[in-house]
Amino acid sequence: MSKSVHCPKIIDSHAHIDFPEFDDDRAELFKAMRAMGINTALIPGVSPSHWENQLHIAAQYSCPYALGIHPWFFSDNYSAELSELDKAVNQRSQEPKFVAIGECGLDKLRGGDWEIQLKVLEHQLTLAKSLNLPVILHVVKAHSELIALLKAVKLARGGVIHGFYGSLEVAQEYVKLGYKLGIGGLILNKDAKKLKACVTNISLNSLIIETDSPAMGPKHLAEKRNTPLILPSIIEEIAKLQKKSSVLVSERMFENVTQLFDL
Ligand SMILES: [Zn+2]
Repeated sequence: MSKSVHCPKIIDSHAHIDFPEFDDDRAELFKAMRAMGINTALIPGVSPSHWENQLHIAAQYSCPYALGIHPWFFSDNYSAELSELDKAVNQRSQEPKFVAIGECGLDKLRGGDWEIQLKVLEHQLTLAKSLNLPVILHVVKAHSELIALLKAVKLARGGVIHGFYGSLEVAQEYVKLGYKLGIGGLILNKDAKKLKACVTNISLNSLIIETDSPAMGPKHLAEKRNTPLILPSIIEEIAKLQKKSSVLVSERMFENVTQLFDL
């Protein structure tokens, strides 16, 4: 049998690999990822001041990327930042590696002014709709508000609720609207009972895998920084919960992410 038959194809659907935590060993990390069958990582955007470096790293390592404004990172000058986003997105609308709007969303714990969060998100949802792109959504303690917005906007290509942590009922609401759930390192925590119950009972078609590196590492990780290298463990955990083989789960996760973002 050829080597490729055994080699998994894994994509990290959400990794901030452009962040300074990776400046010292980014090339080594990509090498280690490829040795494990982790082909690439989608790099989400967080704010205009981060985009230049993000785009540079994405080009250097041939990574797909998204552009967006995260609810932690807009300033008082958010109207100008949204105009910058429109401009950046229009400049790149034909680039094959530019695959989504995000990350954007709602965060009641750490986000800025709530009314502005809503405006900034609505602008980005409208932008995604006009360009027919999927969205990468960050949501903390605001599921009902986000679900209401997504119902109103109706994005043809949907998107992902990244770093999903919620009940099966909430998960099913997103799935009904055509969104996928991004499952990351939290699933590896022994006490993540609600999330494990959700992943056990939801269709594999609705899941994609991610790490949100360098954040969101599972509790047992010796290294403080999270990396895409935990993806095989996430696949194994999903396989265990769904009582399916890791190979099958790995293949389905690859299909789901390539379909969602047209990679
Ligand atoms: Zn993120």
